Amino acid sequence: MEVRVDRTRCVGSGLCMMHVPAVFDQSEDDGKVLLTTAHPGPALARSVRAAAGRCPGRAISLHDGAGREGSDGAAGAERADWTTGSGSVA
Ligand code: SF4
Repeated sequence: MEVRVDRTRCVGSGLCMMHVPAVFDQSEDDGKVLLTTAHPGPALARSVRAAAGRCPGRAISLHDGAGREGSDGAAGAERADWTTGSGSVA
C-alpha cells in the first residue's frame, strides 16, 4: 500500500494524525497534513483505510504496490470498503 496526501484538499482536521500517528502528522505552520510514512506495513493498512475514509477533505488516497490507482475512484472504493465493512466494493 502506498499512501498519498493532497495538501490542497486538506482542511487541517487532524483526524488522520489521531487515527494513525505513525503515518500522518500535522504541520505546525499551516495545520495541514504531513505524510511521514508513504508505505505503511500491513499491520497499519486497516487503520490507514479508516483514516482515509474519515478524512473530511478526501485528501488521502491509497494506491496499490504497482503504483496503480491514485484516482479518487479506487480511493473511494477503499473508503466505501471501510464504511460498509464489506470485503470488496470495487
Ligand atoms: S484527516 Fe484529511 S483533512 Fe484532516 S488533517 Fe488529515 S488529510 Fe487533512
